[in-house]
Amino acid sequence: MKITLIQPSIGKKKGEKYIGTWKMEPLTYAVIKSLIPEHIETEFFDDRVELIDYDTRTDLVLISVETYTAKRSYEIAARFRARGIKVVMGGYHVTLIPNEAEQFCDTVVIGNAEGVLNRILADLEMGNLKPRYEGRAQYAPILPDRTIYSGKKYLPVSLTETGRGCCHNCEFCAITSYYRCNYHPRPIDDICRDIEDSKHKLHFLVDDNLVANKNHFASLLERITPYKIKWGGQGTLSMAKDEKLLKTMKKSGCELILIGFESLNDDNLSAMNKNVNIAVKERDEYVKRIHDAGIGIYATFVFGYDYDNEKTFEQTLEFAKKHKFYTAAFNHLLPFPGTELYRRFEKEKRIIYDRWWLADEYKYGDVAFKPRTMSPEKLSELAFLARKEFASFHTVINRGFASMKRSSPLLWSMFWAMNLKLGEEVSEKMNVPLGRNLDELPK
Ligand code: SF4
Repeated sequence: MKITLIQPSIGKKKGEKYIGTWKMEPLTYAVIKSLIPEHIETEFFDDRVELIDYDTRTDLVLISVETYTAKRSYEIAARFRARGIKVVMGGYHVTLIPNEAEQFCDTVVIGNAEGVLNRILADLEMGNLKPRYEGRAQYAPILPDRTIYSGKKYLPVSLTETGRGCCHNCEFCAITSYYRCNYHPRPIDDICRDIEDSKHKLHFLVDDNLVANKNHFASLLERITPYKIKWGGQGTLSMAKDEKLLKTMKKSGCELILIGFESLNDDNLSAMNKNVNIAVKERDEYVKRIHDAGIGIYATFVFGYDYDNEKTFEQTLEFAKKHKFYTAAFNHLLPFPGTELYRRFEKEKRIIYDRWWLADEYKYGDVAFKPRTMSPEKLSELAFLARKEFASFHTVINRGFASMKRSSPLLWSMFWAMNLKLGEEVSEKMNVPLGRNLDELPK
């Protein structure tokens, strides 16, 4: 038997390369590969970096689907199914709206693949593949099989999983909808083996909220300190309440932490149910504590909630410039299917497209809902201008010298590589058509 794993991509502009920073090692496929018994032949196509061989000899295609890649996934599936090859789809988009995905493939996996992949393979061999399999949130005590990355060019960062899910319940968040507000820490012994097995010294700890279980996080920091890695991850500003924790993070190699500030307006935070941010009254003080601990911040903001107006962009930008963040994302709100936000906007009749992720006219950067206080076009434009301004030369220089004091030489040199190209990348990403121009080079 032979299985073909395919990482679908978002889309690209005709004649242009796929966005460079979207080329991270695809950890999901290394995990799936490790779950497949050795006697079964496998191959892996990464649609972001190479062409897919639709004529390959294979018995089964496995695709992990995200909302942005759904359109492309369904098109890839159609090509293989036309040859009579079975296609199995999983991932968070499929888990959140399985009724859509099952129209485009033979089998959907709801939840994590760990507990069900063996059953799927046995059923396939018996010619008895079922339309649905339900996995639970769980880990298999295995290491991701990173041999599938060989020969493909990715960013030089190892992705290391430390936990799945989140204990909070932000209205717009697909992760917490997938895991139903539960957090599942990965066993620390497995994380350590994973770090030993990785080839890069720089790690991104894949966890939507590293401080969702503070005891687990504190134990993890103790255990990874001897490896002398450098790492970044995602957390909440509340981590700065504990200055000892920040010191331990730095000692363990933490260089950069992604913090979802989302909005500086409490009414917006309340509407998005981001109570964890409302509870943090001393925002400026906590930012300072993180910086004083020698940790850079990747700040993310979201625009388009009902209490935003045109001045909001300026105020948010001022806040980001004042703190000289290592980097920042100024996103407009996007209703992901299966989230509370999507259901609310549907009820309020504010969704613009029928399934924006499949709509031919929808492009990356478009606003898919009707904001209360401005037009969708204005929201998209102002978010774009905020990104451009944050990436402007004088802002980058200011932030760069501030980062020099906080970061290791490795992260500081990466600062320039990342930020000097940021403005260009902001423009490149706008209007990328979803699922288009992917069966052509360059990639
Ligand atoms: S804190 Fe972050 S990961 Fe957790 S629910 Fe909110 S947005 Fe999602």
